[in-house]
Amino acid sequence: MNNKHILISGAGIAGTTLAFWLKKFGFNPAIIEVAPKLREGGYAVDFMGAGYDVAEKMDIIAELKNADIDFSKLTFVDKNNKEKGSMNYQKIKNFLNGRALTILRSDLAKIIFNSLDNDIEVIFGNTITNIEQDDEKVTVTLQNGIKRNFDLLVGADGLHSNVRNLVFGKEILFETYCGYYTSSYTINNFSIGNNAFSMYNIPYKQAAIYSNKKNQTTTFFIFSSPHKLSYQHHDIDQQKQILKAEFEDCGWKCPQLISALDLTTDFYFDSVSQIKMEPWSQGRITLIGDACYCPSLLSGKGSTLAMAGAYILAGELKQADGNYQKAFKQYELLFKPFMEKKQKAAQFFAKSFIPKSNFGIWIRNQAFKLMSIPLFSKLFLGQFKDSELTLKQY
Ligand SMILES: Cc1cc2nc3c(=O)[nH]c(=O)nc-3n(C[C@H](O)[C@H](O)[C@H](O)COP(=O)(O)OP(=O)(O)OC[C@H]3O[C@@H](n4cnc5c(N)ncnc54)[C@H](O)[C@@H]3O)c2cc1C
Repeated sequence: MNNKHILISGAGIAGTTLAFWLKKFGFNPAIIEVAPKLREGGYAVDFMGAGYDVAEKMDIIAELKNADIDFSKLTFVDKNNKEKGSMNYQKIKNFLNGRALTILRSDLAKIIFNSLDNDIEVIFGNTITNIEQDDEKVTVTLQNGIKRNFDLLVGADGLHSNVRNLVFGKEILFETYCGYYTSSYTINNFSIGNNAFSMYNIPYKQAAIYSNKKNQTTTFFIFSSPHKLSYQHHDIDQQKQILKAEFEDCGWKCPQLISALDLTTDFYFDSVSQIKMEPWSQGRITLIGDACYCPSLLSGKGSTLAMAGAYILAGELKQADGNYQKAFKQYELLFKPFMEKKQKAAQFFAKSFIPKSNFGIWIRNQAFKLMSIPLFSKLFLGQFKDSELTLKQY
């Protein structure tokens, strides 16, 4: 096997899954993660489809099921917290033959990370500041000044990928803004007394809460903005102020949720964006996950497809005996058309994701009432299937 020593930037969903499979296929992966440790808390992701298949091959389904938040239902409420429409989550699970979970993104990352072999080198609290490559190697300079050589480098460092910035160009070249901003954070000592995903809408805005299985409540906000907002990515206070201005007067539980902002330690705020680029690789360097094919939260599939892409990349490297030119090309050939379809579907969904009027909210609520009719229910649930992607056995 050639090119065995592979550095992965990012210990998120894609990076840890890739490390798992590379190791299993006889490579020698290492991970560098900018955060000092794995992130805690954060938002929940629906987990099904190709990622579920990959997790099954990794033998981590029991751990994932243990972390399943297992919502009873998705419920749309009015300003008095009165239910106006709902959908039974169990219906989705049944439709997918039980192969669906809702899990905190941080739990998913931790479970994959814990499944890694102990001899995989993991460098926390550091990042790559410079990348050079030649016919034989990739040389990375780390933030602490140390230079290291690897055979290959994979950027699995998310929507704002550092490797992509250093090698392929600025984010603006690849980002498609979907018209929304989102925020999520955890609140202690705020009981909601059920295990539903409760969603409240006013035109152009949505606030939601759910219990995250750890005696905490997680918030999920999303609001429409025709243009990208100007703020510093590292200025959390500034981002909290934006969220506050958008939601503190919106009614329902929003004032309480916003007043808890100051106490939260896992605040997340970002634009809802996709990444589209061509090609995904340059020489000995390639990208996976949100770094090169982010479908955005509108697809509801980013993490499951981050895992699928990681499995395919590792598998193609194995099949090509480490011949990276061949493997990178195959990885893109097999996976990109599928991802393009998912991105298109998410973009289409973006138009109607948040109702723009009270009438739109009413229509959405009525539509969910039709879910009790099998034909409507089947049409709606069809979106959760990833039937076009069959994973190869490597
Ligand atoms: C609110 C919200 C809801 C979502 N809901 C769903 C859902 O229901 N279902 C679903 O499947 N997906 C969902 N997603 C999408 C999903 O979370 C992402 O697509 C997925 O996490 C992408 O995985 P990744 O490994 O590519 O990136 P990430 O999970 O973002 O991981 C990237 C890693 O790289 C690290 N990193 C960043 N910069 C550097 C650097 N300079 N050096 C080293 N490391 C670095 C980060 O710290 C992180 O650990 C949602 C996303 C959001 C925001």
